[in-house]
Amino acid sequence: MTRTRARPPAPEPGLSLRSTVTLSNGVAMPRLGLGVYQTGRGRETRSAVLAALEVGYRLVDTAAVYGNERDVGAALRESGVPRGQVFVTTKLWNSDHGYDRTLRAFDASLRALGLDVLDLYLLHWPVPNVRLQSWLALERLLLEGRARAIGVSNFTLPHLRELLEASDVAPAVNQVELHPFLPQIELVAFCHGRGVQVEAYSPLARAERMDHPVLQRIARVHGKSPAQVLIRWSLQRGFVTIPKSARRERIAENADVFDFTLEPAEMKDLDGLNEELHTDWDPTGVR
Ligand code: NAP
Repeated sequence: MTRTRARPPAPEPGLSLRSTVTLSNGVAMPRLGLGVYQTGRGRETRSAVLAALEVGYRLVDTAAVYGNERDVGAALRESGVPRGQVFVTTKLWNSDHGYDRTLRAFDASLRALGLDVLDLYLLHWPVPNVRLQSWLALERLLLEGRARAIGVSNFTLPHLRELLEASDVAPAVNQVELHPFLPQIELVAFCHGRGVQVEAYSPLARAERMDHPVLQRIARVHGKSPAQVLIRWSLQRGFVTIPKSARRERIAENADVFDFTLEPAEMKDLDGLNEELHTDWDPTGVR
């Protein structure tokens, strides 16, 4: 396969915490959000989401398997931020695939979140044999207006091609692990070409490379932290990005990325850090 480089989007003037991208079906999705994977049930998730909403985040990424949808919903209500201003994503867990089971799992997630309508519902993982049936259920949820957008997660090129060939509705989003240590160049180029918004999960590479000398150098130049440089790289590459922190000060730090721009040479240096680092599960071999 030829290695196509993703076209680097030009730095966007006026990019802010309130910036959105327009998905293929016209729905606006915030560019930066809070992830809550491994944020503890109960108080920890509630206070992280509340802190994020206070700071100005308007996107929260959860999943049925994270076990904290209920707490995300409670924080949304407690925050007083109008429902229409917050974009909520959740995901179908692997054991809930199949047409009817997907519809039931979606209902359970909505109940846990305390919502009538979800902003984005994702297939969490390309589970073999059943994923296309589950996708039909997502199409129905979209048609009925119960999900404003539908998409996938951890889909590789073959999974995406299969889905695009088989279905009438293309995924609005593909959420995948993405950071300079795993830039997924071909997948990103393919998604951009097909109007599928790329959403970067684990954009901080789970804090496993914060001491990398290139990252440290660029952070020093801008007077920013390595985490802020990674988030800025993700935004300048055109991704929706969802760093996770359970700590209020880091939640604020991770959103304080709109007062500097990485220069083309710095973006290039960061692009050179690929080491195919999967900090999470690797869907490459999934048929
Ligand atoms: P991540 O955001 O790359 O990194 C989170 C780690 O970085 C945590 O240990 C956090 O610790 C630390 N951290 C956060 N801000 C920091 C800062 N400013 N300085 C230093 N360390 C910092 O990893 P992730 O949680 O795997 O990914 C983010 C989100 O993506 C998840 O929460 C989830 O919503 C989504 N996700 C989706 C999938 C999927 O299969 N679809 C898989 C993984 C993740 P503290 O919490 O202690 O601050």
